[in-house]
Amino acid sequence: MSKPEQRIVPHQHCKVCGKAVPLGRDFCSNECKGKNEKTRKRTKTISRIYTVVLLVVMTALMLFTILPPR
Ligand SMILES: [Zn+2]
Repeated sequence: MSKPEQRIVPHQHCKVCGKAVPLGRDFCSNECKGKNEKTRKRTKTISRIYTVVLLVVMTALMLFTILPPR
């Protein structure tokens, strides 16, 4: 009995480096897992900063629009 494991075995790819990993695993190694975590945290921080800046700009614009000049 030989299974065609090399060819049709279900697998997915490491989210960081793209290596084939067994189903149910997102990363090939702890290193890649750590890298992904770092990237995610940074993305989260950046998007949070972006949101705050956007809110501030929008508030400022609204104030400028609502408040009559002097
Ligand atoms: Zn990897």
